[in-house]
Amino acid sequence: MTPEPVSTHGSAGSGVSASGGGRGARRIRRIVTTRRGGVSAAPYDSFNLGGGVGDSRQAVAANRARLARAAGLPAASVVWMRQVHGTAVTAVGATTADELAADQPEADGIVTVTTGLALGVLVADCVPMLAGDPVAGVIAAVHAGRRGAAAGIALRMLTAMFESGAGVEDVEVLLGPAICGRCYEVPVEMRDEVEVALPGSACRTDRGTPGLDLRAGLARQLRSAGVAGVAIDPRCTFTDPELFSHRRAAPTGRFAGLIWMPTDAARTT
Ligand SMILES: [Zn+2]
Repeated sequence: MTPEPVSTHGSAGSGVSASGGGRGARRIRRIVTTRRGGVSAAPYDSFNLGGGVGDSRQAVAANRARLARAAGLPAASVVWMRQVHGTAVTAVGATTADELAADQPEADGIVTVTTGLALGVLVADCVPMLAGDPVAGVIAAVHAGRRGAAAGIALRMLTAMFESGAGVEDVEVLLGPAICGRCYEVPVEMRDEVEVALPGSACRTDRGTPGLDLRAGLARQLRSAGVAGVAIDPRCTFTDPELFSHRRAAPTGRFAGLIWMPTDAARTT
């Protein structure tokens, strides 16, 4: 039996949130994958969704197709980014979905108002951010590593969402699995530098050395910007063998966060 390739979670703090509090809210779906359920060989075993990490193209394509199928989406409706540890957040739309599948936007964040278009982010220690405004019908997927987080990509994401019609009071953000502060050891100068840019991220590791808790810093920044709905999936990529971790073992694969607004036809109850 093939394990279910997609883990979904229903409670606050992780995975899927069936967002919405009335007012004709749009349904938003979020999923976070694990290593299980794919076809890639070691060290990408097995559900590697990242291209350009050394895995075979065929395996990545098969895994991406499997993810789309599991999510009930046409494969061409999933938009992936060419992530470059920058701060660009790009709006994408329905008419370009096929082009985007062939030519991915070079960005670390993507935003859409298009129902049925799924936005994917790939990580293996960096923070995947999945954000949605169910009232305005705006979603975003963002790759926030140390550099992007310190350079303000969370605020760039909010700005791009507001430009697409989102209201800060309705935005809900999930900070997905990432390397935690107890495991993410960095030089003291780096920790201090990031703390200045992203207050609340400096911490100590389990070894008593300088560390960074990027999700703590991102959560504080988002809340300071007025976002009340910030949830954190507490899983640590470094210690959880179900997830890919670049720091634990490179080369390795990438798992994904995916967010979309289902079309009526795709709705299940
Ligand atoms: Zn950890």
